[in-house]
Amino acid sequence: MALDIGRRRLRRAVDEARRQHRRTPSVLIVGGGLSGLGMAIQLLRSGITDFTVVEQSDGVGGTWRDNTYPGAACDVPSHLYSWSFAPKCDWSRKFAGQPEILTYAEDCVERFGLAPHLRLGTTVEDATFDERSGRWRVTVTAAGAGHEVLEADALVLACGQLNRPWTPELPGRDEFAGPAFHSARWDHGVDLAGKRVAVIGNGASAVQFVPPVAAAAESVAVYQRSANYVGPKPDKAYGPFQHWLLQHIRPYELAYRWSIYWRFEARWLAFRKDSWSGRTLTRLMTKGIREGVVTDRMPAEVVIPDYPVGCKRILISNDWYPTILGPTVEMVTDPIERIEPGGVVAGGRRRPADVLVYGTGFHTTDFLAHVPVTGRDGRTLASVWASGVRAYRGTTVAGFPNCFLLYGPNTNLGHNSILFMVERQLNLVLQSLALQTETADADSVGSVEVTGEAFDRDDADVQRRVRQTVWVAACHSWYKTASGRVTNNWPSWTVAYWAEMLRLPRRDLTVTTPRRAREPVSTP
Ligand code: NAP
Repeated sequence: MALDIGRRRLRRAVDEARRQHRRTPSVLIVGGGLSGLGMAIQLLRSGITDFTVVEQSDGVGGTWRDNTYPGAACDVPSHLYSWSFAPKCDWSRKFAGQPEILTYAEDCVERFGLAPHLRLGTTVEDATFDERSGRWRVTVTAAGAGHEVLEADALVLACGQLNRPWTPELPGRDEFAGPAFHSARWDHGVDLAGKRVAVIGNGASAVQFVPPVAAAAESVAVYQRSANYVGPKPDKAYGPFQHWLLQHIRPYELAYRWSIYWRFEARWLAFRKDSWSGRTLTRLMTKGIREGVVTDRMPAEVVIPDYPVGCKRILISNDWYPTILGPTVEMVTDPIERIEPGGVVAGGRRRPADVLVYGTGFHTTDFLAHVPVTGRDGRTLASVWASGVRAYRGTTVAGFPNCFLLYGPNTNLGHNSILFMVERQLNLVLQSLALQTETADADSVGSVEVTGEAFDRDDADVQRRVRQTVWVAACHSWYKTASGRVTNNWPSWTVAYWAEMLRLPRRDLTVTTPRRAREPVSTP
């Protein structure tokens, strides 16, 4: 689903460099989730074989390895939530569940021969750009081994936006006597049968796990801070005929994938601030909830959001409302006062609980705060981001040569597939690697860095567009910081991002050849 510009250009540059006995770049990828694996596949397809994927857990899959909670699934159809360069034609259903998506990630390792490049169970401690050699030095620790320093010409940080679970500092949190765990660290050893379960949060994860939990438990109390818009999930299983068509008729598979893409893309209309589509969708969804869900037992203020649709992620589920209307589920909207060993106190009332589940989301707006990354002149990413996390096209930061983020700042979406966005970022990384290769000599490769001017201009442009989106409305969401800066979402059509990411403009870059001791040879 790409014009494949970056991969073709890198392939040509690599072939040329090999003919002339010049170096090609080595790459270190941090993170073995879908983004890290996508990068690895595209490197191999471009002829780059000197790369390593460092992954802290004991397997690939990232968020799809972490989130094993009951009911975990993707709310983007799987034919679009998979790489266009690694299509899977036999998805069992439209919205595949977590086990099938994890298997897809593992199959990619097998299918593209990535295993020799993986270093699992290896944690990155820090990453530093060595200005003398023009290479990245990355300290890693593997279980049972000491520190080790890995070096590479380029660094790709594929750590994602949703990888560090967040648990609120509620009074008495550590005194709870029973099992307590976060949805992204589900404790499958806990048998919920006959248990009273307290669930904190009602976001995208909770909407998926509360129905199966309620089916098993004696009772569930959901502690909700604000209501969500929950629409129907048009899920279906694929039959053998559709599998056959998808597997054997490539134009059909492509048309199917693109039809999902364009239908999802059209939803952007509702995400623009005060748009007619947004107001209409808000009215329709509110009407649907009022007519189908609100009863004497379920007052409107519990289930009807007080903000426009899209301000927070729009959720889809066919069993959320039937579950919360059921006799064993209670929605608690009073703020939590404290956790006690045997229950949760909210609105002055103590509700007993045997198990506590946090569906409270992730650390989302501070991105790589947990990994010290140091670029030129000893400047850290944390210091550059002190006034707000940002990146040029969500992918690279001035002062950090040959360093890239995948699913970085302002690249998340509320209306389409993240993997589509990451494919655009892969294209940009491959173009930058092509430039490094084109300027390489026999011993070392060149260096590519976005200029400070382009970095600032791009951020100003993104934040200007953000102000025209529904995300700036009055709602609490993981897309923005406490001060209201939207750090996570791309504020436009994905087609606009695609157009911007087709080519890496040379005027926005400082390209340095190895021979000239990192003197800029091409500046704007
Ligand atoms: P989330 O959407 O951030 O939801 C966190 C929930 O915890 C919210 O309901 C929030 O309330 C609540 N909360 C936080 N602090 C609280 C407190 N002190 N007291 C009471 N409630 C509190 O997190 P998530 O459900 O894990 O989902 C995160 C993201 O992961 C999603 O938006 C989505 O992008 C991704 N995800 C995707 C899928 C998928 O199908 N593709 C599935 C699961 C997750 P407020 O709403 O009031 O802030």
